[in-house]
Amino acid sequence: MTYSYTQISQYLRCPRSYRYRYLDGWREKDIRAAMAFGRCFEAALAAYFSKEDSIATLFKEWRAYRDVPLEYGKGDSWDKLLHQGVHLLHMLAQDDRVQVKRPQKNLQLKIIRALPHGNEFVAYIDAIGHVDGQACLIDWKTTSSRYQEEPGGLLMLDPQLICYSWISGIREVALVVFVRKHTPEIQYLKATISDEQCREFGQLVESTIDQIEAARFSPHSGIRFPMNGCTTCSHLGLCLGNQQFVESNLVRRPGASDLDWLNQLGD
Ligand code: SF4
Repeated sequence: MTYSYTQISQYLRCPRSYRYRYLDGWREKDIRAAMAFGRCFEAALAAYFSKEDSIATLFKEWRAYRDVPLEYGKGDSWDKLLHQGVHLLHMLAQDDRVQVKRPQKNLQLKIIRALPHGNEFVAYIDAIGHVDGQACLIDWKTTSSRYQEEPGGLLMLDPQLICYSWISGIREVALVVFVRKHTPEIQYLKATISDEQCREFGQLVESTIDQIEAARFSPHSGIRFPMNGCTTCSHLGLCLGNQQFVESNLVRRPGASDLDWLNQLGD
């Protein structure tokens, strides 16, 4: 069996939700404009580091969604997202704080790590390069609000970066966050992951897989209202037996044999 960060984190969030998605095949409908735009923007970044026309790439990719009925965030529109994306690409070039040499090799790297009992773990790393002259592993994010930076050192607790550090062996990590707000901004956030954190993450992966293979899928709704994870869970309709909710949020695909989640590792 092949596992990914998305799978492990979904199980840890709620084992029942994991079962709905990976075993029963209930997937969230892919209609969020922000998600689609994020994929188009990543294609533009690949063009930028390959010294191609990144703005033309962004337009070409995003144009495919022009007449698609996507769900836009409050105040967002197709034009507005394009405008923000162009602005962010200009800022990236102006700042010139990120370098990725040999983009063919160092962008979208697939890394596989063998796990006990014939399992394996797969991750796609956005880039390996330099931020402010420091060699590091880089993850891109597109978001509509800034990432929290305080208290200092918060980023070293980011579980996805710890996962990538664990699988790649690279301890210096960075998030480059493209913030699509009224005045677009790029955050360059850096952290060092320790060997101890990586060792603990490896143990977490193994114990989580043990739970999955033992078919333990109890609901885990989180902490009390209003911090209850169920309120933002795409599988809420299934747990409530609310057919209308199910139909508006989910689509059912083949279950465990469906491996197209491998393409969604950037969730
Ligand atoms: S609604 Fe709550 S209990 Fe049900 S799958 Fe989602 S998080 Fe788990």
